[in-house]
Amino acid sequence: MADTVAATQQGGYPHFLEPLDLGFVKLRNRALMGSMHTALEETEHGFERLAAFYAERARGEAGLIVTGGIAPNPAGRVFTGAAKMDTEHEADEHKVITRAVHDNGGLIAMQVLHTGRYGYHREAVGASELQAPINFVKPKKLSDEAVHQTIADYAKCAQLAQYAGYDGVEIMGSEGYLINQFTAARTNNRDDEWGGTYEKRMRFPVEVVKAVRKAVGEKFIIIYRLSLLDLVDGGSSWPEVVQLAHAIEKAGATIINSGIGWHEARIPTIAMVVPRGIFSTVTGKLKKEVTLPVVTSNRINTPEIAEAIIARGDADLVSMARPFLADGAFVAKTRAGRAQFINTCIACNQACLDHTFSGKLTSCLVNPRACNETNLNYNRTDKPRKIAVVGAGPAGMSAASVLAERGHHVTLFDAADKIGGQLNIAKEIPSKREFEETIRYFGNMLHEHQADVRLGKKVSAEELIQAKFDEVILATGIVPRKLNLPGADSAKVLSYVDVLREKKTVGKNVAIIGGGGIGYDTALYLTDPGHKTWANPEEFAKEWGFDLKVSTRAGLTEKSPELVAAPRQVTMFKRSKGKFGNTLGKTTGWIHKITLDERTVAQFSNITYDKIDEQGLHYTLKGESKVLPCDNVIVCAGQEPLRDLEAGLVAAGIAPHIIGGALEAGELDAKRAILQGAELGARL
Ligand code: FAD
Ligand code: NAP
Ligand code: SF4
Repeated sequence: MADTVAATQQGGYPHFLEPLDLGFVKLRNRALMGSMHTALEETEHGFERLAAFYAERARGEAGLIVTGGIAPNPAGRVFTGAAKMDTEHEADEHKVITRAVHDNGGLIAMQVLHTGRYGYHREAVGASELQAPINFVKPKKLSDEAVHQTIADYAKCAQLAQYAGYDGVEIMGSEGYLINQFTAARTNNRDDEWGGTYEKRMRFPVEVVKAVRKAVGEKFIIIYRLSLLDLVDGGSSWPEVVQLAHAIEKAGATIINSGIGWHEARIPTIAMVVPRGIFSTVTGKLKKEVTLPVVTSNRINTPEIAEAIIARGDADLVSMARPFLADGAFVAKTRAGRAQFINTCIACNQACLDHTFSGKLTSCLVNPRACNETNLNYNRTDKPRKIAVVGAGPAGMSAASVLAERGHHVTLFDAADKIGGQLNIAKEIPSKREFEETIRYFGNMLHEHQADVRLGKKVSAEELIQAKFDEVILATGIVPRKLNLPGADSAKVLSYVDVLREKKTVGKNVAIIGGGGIGYDTALYLTDPGHKTWANPEEFAKEWGFDLKVSTRAGLTEKSPELVAAPRQVTMFKRSKGKFGNTLGKTTGWIHKITLDERTVAQFSNITYDKIDEQGLHYTLKGESKVLPCDNVIVCAGQEPLRDLEAGLVAAGIAPHIIGGALEAGELDAKRAILQGAELGARL
């Protein structure tokens, strides 16, 4: 947003860019690239690709990189066949990564992650035999002997990481994984030396840190990821968190990283709805208690936020994971005074976490090169051509910017008076304002690489033919699908574009036709109570029922009903059977569902639409005719491709390249549109 440019003009990010001396090693700045599983760990030739991925982030000046989680033993794996390190052979495979990072001036630590009861396999173990609400597997309780063996496995894994060339390890002690399962009464009902009192529950992580320190010697970084705010019933209290921090410090850790929220918590902690930098004050509270450097994390996606946090003294380092997927050169651009060219992570989760949880390779919606560094490159062309791109939505912006960066002569047309296409509509949804950053990034790239951007220009096939372009790309997007229903043309029927872009007046009782992503977004927009909680950490915490001061156990409090009261009654309809929300993102859909539920949005599936008249929307449900009295019916019934220029071009012997919604409207999203644009841009 505008603040990115403003801060750049003021010049400098002195606190964020300042080195951090750990005694035996110096970090070149305060940016820690947080741990992310990419699935390359389990892909053929994945380690070479991981090496290229991390090397690019090292070149981009990440201060300290942390890898995705690697299990210390088979039971600790995320799934059968997932990455582990308990043999020298497995450690040898990692050498290509550590070499690549060091060759590029970086430092890298390996995260040691034991999933405990979050393991999706039959070997899963836990502190107790208590099944996680988000897993289908009941864990086996670790015996006393097995607990000792697991501690030894952590130590051996760290030693192997050191042998593989890593500069340190991060011990994952948060997010509800095995270590948390020992520390929290919620998941630990043991009555031996590893359960009962808090002193006994926290013994496991303390012994792990001690054993790891003993195994790796003094000059090796040990980051401990400590859960500051569990956000689940039966989680840790603040005094317990502090007690553990002191013990971890004494046991030999080098750095304490912040963990926020277990995976099973029903409070958003990293999605776009979450205010930027919201949890830094919680880390600030811990920083006052310990002498080790502390790292803060979650929703830090611009250098301004990072600078403000470090300058305020809330943390010594900021952890950014997804922002380094979105832009490997985040720090280098910041240092060079080019923060306005950072491709900002918009916290959509669509190509990273949603992929991880569907077993797909991680990438990034705004940067399809992420994890594709060896197979998607924007090399300079030695044959610059004259290329027209019609449509400046995500597909067109992406293609035009890559082509211009590669040295082609690009003319980008859009009928609208600004670039962005439908992202300009998406960013009207209160929780989706981050799309503004994507538009800002592409706008700056197009300007930097001298693309000729012609706005307010609905181009015709005739004009394209006359201008004699070498290549024509149609990225003209979609048209919203209209209803074929008696009364569909009445004044009370509006499309989502009328509501979101044209801001047409909407009454107090509304029916929404369509339960896809846009139906949900329109419902969220129309029921938004207007408190802008996405920009206000305290209000957001009250809306979702937690306390940033952690004055209650695990930080949980009652939700504030006045923050969720909707300004109108909305009812959603769809024709297909089954629950609403099945097409929403895996890691964000639940947030939208809870939100609409709290705003008392009613939902009906398996509907036949009959007609719309003065009375309202007439429909049939289970053979019974019904009517919903309403002021407006909003149509969110999907889209059709807009390809009106194709026939004219083909008739003139021009074969256009077609991308984005213009190619296929079904299941289209900005991820696919940007990827197609980038792939075509790299190829031509
Ligand atoms: P468009 O974005 O439709 O762009 C096409 C452009 O072509 C338009 O700007 C149009 O003016 C221009 N054009 C057409 N014809 C001509 C012509 N003859 N001359 C000049 N210009 C022309 N996707 C996600 O991935 N995540 C989300 O969270 C998300 N949320 C959304 C929320 C809403 C409310 C909406 C409406 C969409 C959302 N989407 C989301 C979908 C996403 O915006 C679209 O998938 C994406 O914009 C499609 O990109 P596109 O470039 O193919 O087309
Ligand atoms: P969509 O997901 O395909 O949903 C369209 C809805 O319209 C469906 O619920 C469908 O349900 C209904 N429908 C289809 N044809 C109809 C007809 N002739 N009459 C009445 N109803 C009809 O499309 P969308 O909601 O417009 O979203 C467009 C794209 O944008 C999506 O593919 C999505 O990926 C993307 N998007 C993504 C997000 C995100 O958060 N990731 C958010 C918004 C949009 P029935 O057939 O059951 O009636
Ligand atoms: Fe960020 Fe979305 Fe990219 Fe994930 S896919 S890194 S959330 S922009």
